Amino acid sequence: MARITRAAQAAGRDPADVTLVAVSKTQPWDAIEPVLAAGQRVFGENRVQEAMARWDGKADGLTLHLIGPLQSNKSREAVAFFDVIESLDREKLARSLADEVQKQGRAPRLYVQVNTGEEPQKAGILPMDADAFITAARATYGLTIEGLMCIPPADEPPGPHFALLRKIAARNGLAKLSMGMSGDFETAIRFGATSVRVGSAVFGARS
Ligand SMILES: *Cc1c(COP(=O)(O)O)cnc(C)c1O
Repeated sequence: MARITRAAQAAGRDPADVTLVAVSKTQPWDAIEPVLAAGQRVFGENRVQEAMARWDGKADGLTLHLIGPLQSNKSREAVAFFDVIESLDREKLARSLADEVQKQGRAPRLYVQVNTGEEPQKAGILPMDADAFITAARATYGLTIEGLMCIPPADEPPGPHFALLRKIAARNGLAKLSMGMSGDFETAIRFGATSVRVGSAVFGARS
C-alpha cells in the first residue's frame, strides 16, 4: 500500500520492514477477492470460527493472523489454523497453546498483547506485568515470542502507547511490533511498527 511506503520512507525506514496485515474480519468475499488479486497475502481475523469459515480451502500460500481475543478452549483450532497468534495475554492461554504446540508439532508465531491503556474492558497483559509474563511464557511454557501487539485507547493520542510498547519490547529482546490500524498506522510506523493491522482503509467500512 502506497501510504505505508510513504510513511516508512518519511520515517527513514525501509518499507519492506513493515508488513501490511489486511484485516478481513466481517468482510464479504466480494471485498476480499480484489485485494487477493492485487497480491495481498497476509490477512488478519479476530474470531477463530469466522476465520476458519471464511478461509476454508482458500488459505494456501497465505499468512493468517489471529488478532482478536482467544479463549483457551479454542487453542486447538487456533494452533492448527493460524500462522500467527497476536493475542497471547495470560498464563492459562500460554499453557494451553504450549500443550497444543507439543501435540500438533505446529508452532504459530506468537505476539504478546499488551493493554497499554490499562483499559478494563480490553484484552492484553498490563504493562507492569508484561516482563514477568514474557519471561514465564518463555521459561515456564517454552514458547517462542516473536513480538508485542497493542490497541491504544480510541480516545487518546496513540503515540505514547506505541512508544511504551516499543520500550517493553526492547527490554525483553523483542524486535517485532504489531501496532497501528486504519486511523493511526502512519503514526505507528513512525514509532517503529513492523506490522500494521489495517481493515477499513483496505476494504472499506465494515457493515
Ligand atoms: C478490526 C481490528 C483492526 C482493524 O481496524 P481498522 O480500523 O478497520 O483498520 C486492527 N486490529 C484489531 C485488533 C482489530 O480488531
